[in-house]
Amino acid sequence: MFSFDNYLFSLLVVLVPVFVYFAYLYKRDFFKEQSVVFGLLCCLAIIMSMSYPLELETGYIFDLRTIPWLLAFFYGGLKMGMAATAVLIIYRLFIGLDEGFFIVLVSYMLGSAAIIFFLNRFKEAMLKERIKISVCLTLLNNVLILTGIYFFMERDVLPGFFAYFMLSHLVTIILVVFIIETLKEKEQNKIALQQTERVRLIGEMAASVAHEIRNPLTVVKGFVHILKNEENLTDKQKSSLKLMDSELERAEKIITDYLSLAKSEKKNDTEIDVREIIKNTADVVEPYALMNGTTITNCIDSPYYVRGNASDLGQVFLNLFKNGIEAIDGKGEIAINAVKNGDLVDITICDTGRGMSEEEIKRLGTPFYTTKDQGTGMGTMLCYKIIDNLNGQIKVKSTRGEGTAFTISLPLCKKQK
Ligand code: ADP
Ligand code: MG
Repeated sequence: MFSFDNYLFSLLVVLVPVFVYFAYLYKRDFFKEQSVVFGLLCCLAIIMSMSYPLELETGYIFDLRTIPWLLAFFYGGLKMGMAATAVLIIYRLFIGLDEGFFIVLVSYMLGSAAIIFFLNRFKEAMLKERIKISVCLTLLNNVLILTGIYFFMERDVLPGFFAYFMLSHLVTIILVVFIIETLKEKEQNKIALQQTERVRLIGEMAASVAHEIRNPLTVVKGFVHILKNEENLTDKQKSSLKLMDSELERAEKIITDYLSLAKSEKKNDTEIDVREIIKNTADVVEPYALMNGTTITNCIDSPYYVRGNASDLGQVFLNLFKNGIEAIDGKGEIAINAVKNGDLVDITICDTGRGMSEEEIKRLGTPFYTTKDQGTGMGTMLCYKIIDNLNGQIKVKSTRGEGTAFTISLPLCKKQK
């Protein structure tokens, strides 16, 4: 009767695209629109499942099309999910306009509505919660289809068929979500490792460059001093030399700052209040913001104590605020918020600026990467470095034309846990 090989075949049809995508294509550079590729693979899996269904016993047709359909929503996004729904329904129409078609039409339309309702929760959830949501949505869809079959097609459906249908779907969705999440995590760990390596390299590079520049600078400074003490200099020469001296002083200061940051073995063991640092920094950039038509809204309403160095952390916020202000054309807003998240505090800085593409987000933190005429491309690099030193993390979410949110997670002090 309902044999296991049948199920294994349907499972294969669903798993192949998932493997192809997450093992070979995910986060690679050949495709700009990753989610579209995944959506298309899901559509292919849907068509394959429907083209090669299993006839468990005469009249009992079964396939796993629901699984790639759900995956298209979960991992391809709303648009790809809708596309998959359309493909599924249209392809079913192509197979035949019978009762079965209307059952499919109604249950997948209702199912889509339910998924859309849960989609955001799914996106924000961790593995366990994701499995729970996908199990519930699979169950809902199964119940809709089976009810349809029961009432509109066959009253005397074998209970065994119902059980087989439900069970195979549940096992598959749990398996597939688990596999996808594991593959994704592996890929993300790799990226995190590369990021750490990048940060380390930057540190070394900055230190050696700064060091190399400092020596010739000292020599030049010495000669300027000698020249300044010369007699019979004209007033113009005197003032030029004075200017040279002060500019050299400034260059030296910048280098010293960068050098100390590159080492950044500054003590990180004072307890500092993030709210206060943010407030001070926001006050500092306020005039610059106003000049550019940006309002800064600070919504942090309680202190959050972390271990760190106040001036380093101030630098981070200063850079992020400045980038936010510079990303906004005309009027806009920067909103700052902080929430406790377990042992961490998540500080979010949202701007309503021009946003960034996936590609641009990836390049953030690389030295000298800038899109501005007057930019240095050092700002975000320093932020990554400093936050990394404090055992924190920076996450970036950005939508082109809508804005950017930087979230900094820092470990809270014991007294606040
Ligand atoms: P700089 O500000 O000197 O260009 P950064 O390292 O601070 O260097 O930033 C690098 C680049 O990242 C910027 O030139 C900009 O293109 C992009 N960027 C950073 N923050 C934002 C933001 N909030 N919104 C849009 N783009 C941003
Ligand atoms: Mg900057």
